[in-house]
Amino acid sequence: MAYARARLGALPGTRLVAASRVEETAPLGPVAQPPYLNQMVLLETTLAPAALLAHCRRIETERGRERRERWGPRTLDLDIVRYGDKTVREPDLTIPHPELPNRDFWQREIAELEGEHV
Ligand code: ATP
Ligand code: CA
Ligand code: CA
Repeated sequence: MAYARARLGALPGTRLVAASRVEETAPLGPVAQPPYLNQMVLLETTLAPAALLAHCRRIETERGRERRERWGPRTLDLDIVRYGDKTVREPDLTIPHPELPNRDFWQREIAELEGEHV
């Protein structure tokens, strides 16, 4: 997580404004695996959503992520939950993240970040 925060904050035209607390959450989906550590960061960026996603994938790869099965165990997973008030519907990118209504921990993290910064 420290690595991801550092790399995200160092992306071109990007500043890491705030980070939520780290929360341990149960794994999602059908694959048996240990719990996850979750954290949300608030970025200010001039990167377009698709460019930000490409950087996220690269940072995941830097941490040794291999994509085998969806929802399987991974070393690092970087999702774009929201991008300001923007809506994106591309084949490989949906914003807000479609699972946001179903993930209490994301909603808690958003509330935490908004409490401090909006
Ligand atoms: P979930 O997206 O339900 O949390 P996951 O993170 O395990 O599941 P991945 O295998 O990491 O899923 O990603 C699958 C694909 O989802 C990515 O390659 C990406 O193209 C696509 N995707 C669509 N919308 C988003 C988004 N908002 N943030 C990140 N990836 C997204
Ligand atoms: Ca995810
Ligand atoms: Ca992901």
